[in-house]
Amino acid sequence: MNGSEIIDFIKWVAIIFPILYFGYFLIPCGLSYYYFYVFRFEKFKDRKIYAERPTRADVWREIRASTSTIFIFSIGTALVREMIINGQTLVYFDWDAYPWWYHILGFFLIMVVHDAYLYWTHRFMHIKGIFHRVHLTHHRSLYPTPFAVFSSHPIEAVIAYTIIPLLLIMIPIHLWLLIFYFIYNLFTNIQGHLGFEIFPKGFFQLPLIRFSATPTSHQIHHVHFNKNYGGYFNFWDRVMGTYSEEKPSSRKISAIRFQ
Ligand SMILES: [Zn+2]
Ligand SMILES: [Zn+2]
Repeated sequence: MNGSEIIDFIKWVAIIFPILYFGYFLIPCGLSYYYFYVFRFEKFKDRKIYAERPTRADVWREIRASTSTIFIFSIGTALVREMIINGQTLVYFDWDAYPWWYHILGFFLIMVVHDAYLYWTHRFMHIKGIFHRVHLTHHRSLYPTPFAVFSSHPIEAVIAYTIIPLLLIMIPIHLWLLIFYFIYNLFTNIQGHLGFEIFPKGFFQLPLIRFSATPTSHQIHHVHFNKNYGGYFNFWDRVMGTYSEEKPSSRKISAIRFQ
């Protein structure tokens, strides 16, 4: 990179950061938090996975810890933008470049590879000695709110973003599907940290859907620590014996706190 390219890169980080920062906090997090925890709390009270309500201090801690993550993601996004423009990825712009069925397959392939990456890096971050340095920031939210999605240590943020350019040099995907993928990823993450089981009972027992991670399964991870590491699916958890539908009691949670 020469001088003007570096300045251009910094300019893009400066453009992307406020868009991600305010876009993320105000729209998906702010709206879902306001709707479930304030506006319609009484209506959804029975769907709260644990009765405990995060305090205002918890929410501010999550927002503070998300700031460095969003900054790192902004650098990552500027880098990915650069790679796409320079033709260094397999991102394509023409719908006719591939048959119609490939657009669906490519999207699904990205999900499957990303899910495996999430599972194994997540397990890595739970190794004794690594957990306290890298992953504890995220686990300080025993009862997370939507603001906990990006609430993580900067090293965890780097690990989380590294897969994105790797996916894009391995699997062809249309630019609009990629943008949709990021929105979908954020939606599933918010659902996992919502604290409410929004889907009807029995929904996750349906064929295929039973392999999806659920709001309850990720809430169980936040209190159980060594169960349900999966991102989109529970496939790897089932294969590796780390899957659990058992919701630990509040007493048990205090015993395993920050182990
Ligand atoms: Zn989490
Ligand atoms: Zn974890």
